[in-house]
Amino acid sequence: MTVCGLRSELVKYARRILEEKLVTGAGGNISTRFESLMLISPSGFSLEDVSPDEYVEVNIETGEIAPGALRPSSEVLMHLACYRRRPEIRAVIHTHAPYVIALASSGHDLKPMFADSIIYLGRRIPHLDYITVTTPELALAVEEAVPGCECIILRNHGVITLGENLKQAFWRACSVEESARIQFMATLLGKPRFLDAEEVGRLESLGSEQYRRQLLSQMKDFHVKVETGGEGGK
Ligand SMILES: [Zn+2]
Repeated sequence: MTVCGLRSELVKYARRILEEKLVTGAGGNISTRFESLMLISPSGFSLEDVSPDEYVEVNIETGEIAPGALRPSSEVLMHLACYRRRPEIRAVIHTHAPYVIALASSGHDLKPMFADSIIYLGRRIPHLDYITVTTPELALAVEEAVPGCECIILRNHGVITLGENLKQAFWRACSVEESARIQFMATLLGKPRFLDAEEVGRLESLGSEQYRRQLLSQMKDFHVKVETGGEGGK
């Protein structure tokens, strides 16, 4: 995708983040990788008010900001940490999702409860204890936690989701909030049943190429046996 295309995508998903109520005011930030650069939302703007050309270009390796650009989001170090540590990642979204914050700040960890949360977020979700927002200490903690995960929960702060593109990072941002909301409701209702390690393992394998091939080969021979009530049945 061209840099213009990426700038338009940033605007599109920034608005979706607002629509999904994953941030309020000037909270949250979004970025994508373009070659050796990161395009990140500027500081002090509500995500809905940022136009395509206001996204700030930052060199991922050197941290240098393009001349004449606006000031990048104050969480810029956290985004840089993700791109530097995970070369395959092309999008980072940070939200202040309310159910995630409520759950994680009340001493709960987000646990596997249903298929979507495993398929979108994976088995490993690091939960970081509170560290002052925007600081290098927070960025360092994110850098240490980020290998091998799709999502990092920041207690008393919010959540970071990663993706191969903005759409994937956005889906994950929605999925982590939905998972937290469901766990929150289930905890209020009683004692939720979480998926065990074997159930999680089976869900993880659903995404594999081998499983997809197996599923396609089974489609031709798969028939549901329908029991009929017979003649005169109700
Ligand atoms: Zn934040």
